[in-house]
Amino acid sequence: VVAAGVWSARLLDPIGFDALMRPKKRQLFVFKHPRLKGLLEVKELNEYGALPLTVLPKAGIFVKAELTEGSIWLGCADELGRAFGLEDDPQPEEDYYTNNIYHVLVKYLPCFEDVRPVNMWAGQYAINSFDGLPVVTSEAGMIYVGAASGSGIMKCDALGRIVAALHAGEEEVELYGGRRFRVADLGVTTRNVERETFII
Ligand SMILES: Cc1cc2nc3c(=O)[nH]c(=O)nc-3n(C[C@H](O)[C@H](O)[C@H](O)COP(=O)(O)OP(=O)(O)OC[C@H]3O[C@@H](n4cnc5c(N)ncnc54)[C@H](O)[C@@H]3O)c2cc1C
Repeated sequence: VVAAGVWSARLLDPIGFDALMRPKKRQLFVFKHPRLKGLLEVKELNEYGALPLTVLPKAGIFVKAELTEGSIWLGCADELGRAFGLEDDPQPEEDYYTNNIYHVLVKYLPCFEDVRPVNMWAGQYAINSFDGLPVVTSEAGMIYVGAASGSGIMKCDALGRIVAALHAGEEEVELYGGRRFRVADLGVTTRNVERETFII
């Protein structure tokens, strides 16, 4: 089983197998500032009394209250303008926050004015630009699972079950919650999925 995330192509390209994804950097920024207190104490939107995950209408920016540490996390899905390319140790770019995200963010949430990130990190999405969904396929005794396109944590339980079923030669698998899923639907030649439209 090849489940090497964005590194899958490094393993599979040399043997002529298409990993059907391209790596792209994604970054998260963390903020802690008295001025952001209002976002951590939002009444009547949910049972936690905090800002729910909120996606701004422009620029792919999303913010989330992280109650365990009293901070606000922010991410941004920059599509055009952000190169594809494998990086072994992708680094966050404070400059990307300061000169890009910030100017949109303060228009929607003025409380961020002059607030700088206290922490940040970067990783890479394995992006399947065709339909935004993972691929689970097998060839010559190998199973490839990848191209999670930024939601591989959320989908890992389902993907693990689908890979196990494929290995066992089963056509269908039961996912968490009892839903049945046709294993071949995430394959390549047998693919039968709708395009994922909610990717941030
Ligand atoms: C900033 C950011 C935020 C994200 N937020 C979310 C989120 O909120 N929800 C969500 O569902 N997903 C999120 N994701 C996406 C999620 O992290 C990925 O979809 C998921 O980690 C992919 O899992 P994977 O097992 O396919 O790959 P990985 O987690 O990358 O694991 C692949 C592993 O293979 C190893 N490896 C590489 N080459 C080899 C080799 N030759 N031999 C052996 N091992 C090898 C690597 O070291 C690595 O440990 C986020 C990603 C980023 C970058």
